Amino acid sequence: MASLSATGTNLAWEPAVHERLTDRHGRRITDLRISITDRCNYRCVYCRAGSDGAVYADLPIEDYLRMARVFVALGIEKIRLTGGEPLLRRGLPELLRELSRLRTLDGAPLDLALTTNGHLLEGMAEELRNAGLSRITVSMDAVDPEKFARITRVPGSYGRVLAGIRAAKRAGLAPVKVNCVLLRGFNEDQIVRFAEFSRDEGVIVRFIEFMPLEEDRLWSPEAVVSLREITEALGTYRPVKALPPNAASETAVRYTFDDGVGEIGIIAPVTQAFCGHCSRVRLTSDGKIRTCLFSQTDHDLYGVMQRGGSDAEMAEFIRRTVDHKEARHHIGEPGFLKPSRSMVHIGG
Ligand code: SAM
Repeated sequence: MASLSATGTNLAWEPAVHERLTDRHGRRITDLRISITDRCNYRCVYCRAGSDGAVYADLPIEDYLRMARVFVALGIEKIRLTGGEPLLRRGLPELLRELSRLRTLDGAPLDLALTTNGHLLEGMAEELRNAGLSRITVSMDAVDPEKFARITRVPGSYGRVLAGIRAAKRAGLAPVKVNCVLLRGFNEDQIVRFAEFSRDEGVIVRFIEFMPLEEDRLWSPEAVVSLREITEALGTYRPVKALPPNAASETAVRYTFDDGVGEIGIIAPVTQAFCGHCSRVRLTSDGKIRTCLFSQTDHDLYGVMQRGGSDAEMAEFIRRTVDHKEARHHIGEPGFLKPSRSMVHIGG
């Protein structure tokens, strides 16, 4: 993939420091999530419909790289690759290699992370690590093969994902994070099993409240297993101890147990929204900027690029878009509108 390397790491245009991305609510934007495909090999019940819905175009890998370079020149410090299922995407190691050559405005390497369902991870973990990946998050919604297959709608998925998690640890992608979306009636009985899993496997388990971003119409306030319920369930297993946040923009509230073994994070966008210190912006697989998971509008950065826009023009488009980032989401409020794209088509 010669064209990737040919782009180099420097922009023709040099940003001034005052151009670091900030929105009109005073939040610094340092975290970019890029969806590199919206195809997925799982059909998790809380995310996808049983049959294929709309599919948006994937872009050439070098185009994601060019857009990422402009974002980094505006102060992005962390990039998370996601999807769809990013491990399905050809050219992923080459993209990681090029991204790992970029430097933040302070001259530091980027924090390069990836979210995957883990199905193909066992055979790829080492290669991803060697290509420059720093951290990995694997989604896994049950510690029980049958229950897991009912959620993913793919038989045999549990064994593959478990093998992927272990391969990621061996490859040095530590600490591995395991994300579990809790959905009432499906897997709220797994909370204690996951606490044991965190302690036995040495991984950070993070429970995520179910958000109204699914293709089917499953979401209701009652389907959400709240942070309070999760901590109560954990307390029936062992006394829990709160841990301090790693950073101000951290989305997870962190806990360990009385003996300090295991780590559990709870991400509670519904019952304890963290919009006030949100540092994220997203790029969809078809090159649109989304300033919030619940945005009603996409902003077509790829369109600017396709019309021959320079790096400086793309940067100006990004700055103007980010300036208008929503103050907060309105889940559960009267008049809340579900976004037209579901999570698999936004990039979680
Ligand atoms: N395929 C990859 C994976 O499984 O991690 C990356 C894409 S997936 C859309 C990213 C994350 O979004 C996963 O951890 C998934 O569990 C989460 N997710 C999907 N739909 C969700 C919803 N409605 N509410 C909360 N999280 C959701």
